[in-house]
Amino acid sequence: MNDFTSRVFEAIERHRDMLLDAERYIWRHPELGFREYKTQEYLLEQYKKLGYKPVLAGDIPGFYVDILTGRPGPCVGVFGELDAVCVPAHAECDKTTGAVHACGHHAQSVRLLGTAAAFTDKEVLEDMCGSIRLFAVPAEEIVDSAVIRELQEKGVLHAMQGKQEFMYRGYLDGVDMAIMLHGGPNGFSNNTGCNGSLSKKCTFKGKAVHAASPFGGRNALYAATNALAAVNSLRETFSIKNMVRFNAIITKGGTIPNQIADDVTVEGMVRALTVEALVSVNEKINRAFAAAAAAMGCTVTIQDSFGCFPRKEDRNLQDVLHETAHLVYSPELIHRDYPPSAGITDMGDVSMIMPVCHAHIGGSEGGGHTYEYRMTNREMACIDGSKIQAGAVYRLLRGDGERAKKVLAEAEVPFPSVKEYFAAREKYAFFGEAVAYNADGTVTLRYHNC
Ligand SMILES: [Zn+2]
Ligand SMILES: [Zn+2]
Repeated sequence: MNDFTSRVFEAIERHRDMLLDAERYIWRHPELGFREYKTQEYLLEQYKKLGYKPVLAGDIPGFYVDILTGRPGPCVGVFGELDAVCVPAHAECDKTTGAVHACGHHAQSVRLLGTAAAFTDKEVLEDMCGSIRLFAVPAEEIVDSAVIRELQEKGVLHAMQGKQEFMYRGYLDGVDMAIMLHGGPNGFSNNTGCNGSLSKKCTFKGKAVHAASPFGGRNALYAATNALAAVNSLRETFSIKNMVRFNAIITKGGTIPNQIADDVTVEGMVRALTVEALVSVNEKINRAFAAAAAAMGCTVTIQDSFGCFPRKEDRNLQDVLHETAHLVYSPELIHRDYPPSAGITDMGDVSMIMPVCHAHIGGSEGGGHTYEYRMTNREMACIDGSKIQAGAVYRLLRGDGERAKKVLAEAEVPFPSVKEYFAAREKYAFFGEAVAYNADGTVTLRYHNC
């Protein structure tokens, strides 16, 4: 069998200026989720220069590019996320929006472009079967729930994050497996999975009275802070093994300062390594919220939306990425099976319907999502990363696609279809008033569906 992996690497080398320029451009033009139009415009131009015809999502940012070999075979999907995070304290953030690529997604867009550049070598494509679908996907980060809700209310958005929305729209139909490289520790690595999540919005309602005469009031801010204190007391019961995390912020703390707060909103996220742990810890949190509202004579409307599923990694896909990484790096720069991460990603959702590998490539220093994050090795992030990603795609589909076929034959995928995946999301969602004051003086708490 031919091995054109080195030809793939050479094609990326020929486009190194384009890739390194793209890294600087996107770093300097960071945009938050579902608003990545400038990034899209820049990338579309580059794909067109390479001779591709991107298919746009249209009413949200994002597009995909199909690369066909002309021979039947599996379809490999590759993701590059477009969005930045909001870190107003970062020296290089957008001064208006606070956006900065402190999760390194800009380099993912470069690696996706590098993968496209690799397959401009027609002889390499002729050595392969099946097809490749490159996804420039918006909004992996959940930074602004108001923007998400507005798009949902308009009927534009049917999920929380970009990959889920692409799934809903059918853009992943016919794709058999998917890979991507996220920024990570120095060198190439993978971990064994990551947390899933549930997003929460709780609106406490009380009775506003003058702050000088608080006697007839019901303080919704105290209900909210009591709820958070109760959850903090529960933390010692949260499973360490399942990496349970709960973080919340008060997004509305009342109306005016000389009035007892009657309208307070807490928004947060629950994370855990299994769906069972997520559901069980969320029930405790909701119970605490409902009981704290009742303690103050207030009400609380709980709105739980399922976020991401815990990511399931495919061993065969990992094998192909690792063996490609060994063609780029010496062994001390390659790490297999780091423990799972408490972070979340909508690649977890993709892993519910097809085999997936979400590996990591270095090139940055400083914590993700912090003002310390900076690019320190653009060569690693952009050029080496493109080689590993594109090289792995080539190796999956070369010849008659034996490696991709092995992935498919041995894959264990939780949901047989996108439809069943979305039905499961609905099952874990909850929306309702959690406290009922009954006519007989009793109080009823309701905080889950079952
Ligand atoms: Zn991030
Ligand atoms: Zn990220």
